[in-house]
Amino acid sequence: MTCPLCDADLERSTLLDPSDGVPGLRGFRCPRGHGSFLPADLYFAWRERHEPADAPSEPVPSSEEVGDVKRAKLCPQDERIMSRYRVRPEGGFWLDRCATCGGVWFDGDEWDATVEAGLLDRLPTLLTDAWQRQAERAVAAGGTEDRLRDRLGEDLDRVDGFRAWAWQHPQRHLIFSRLRERPGEPEEVLD
Ligand SMILES: [Zn+2]
Ligand SMILES: [Zn+2]
Repeated sequence: MTCPLCDADLERSTLLDPSDGVPGLRGFRCPRGHGSFLPADLYFAWRERHEPADAPSEPVPSSEEVGDVKRAKLCPQDERIMSRYRVRPEGGFWLDRCATCGGVWFDGDEWDATVEAGLLDRLPTLLTDAWQRQAERAVAAGGTEDRLRDRLGEDLDRVDGFRAWAWQHPQRHLIFSRLRERPGEPEEVLD
């Protein structure tokens, strides 16, 4: 098995020491510190050996991206191209997963961040389409709001105030129609 970032041979490694009734977990690490690889069979065997912890309420901590993240990574196990998954909506924390063998690559210290956040038991949930769509939507919504605020400043509050009033108005379609007219243009005839 080779590192997807530097092609060095991955070394067998203890990714998680046993503690508090949770068994240890073995996997692979790049000897140059590029990241960790967790094969799917080792993960699910580990998961079956203990009672998964409750879902954490704390947000996932940030993690600096390490290495050339733009380069498509190849799975250490079967050299298929891995897909990137967002672990926290705010960005900066990603995992790469191979759709063929289910193995997961953790860049740099993303492994430690995942463990510290108590997300290891929830890994399958984080990698589902539904969770990813939810994260994407959160990012898209946040981005739009931020861009509007950047460009409109305090005018955004005026717009939002007016919008809230207009939407509860019984004749709102007339209001929106009027808004689309450029001032000074001849009025449209409304029956
Ligand atoms: Zn490496
Ligand atoms: Zn694979």
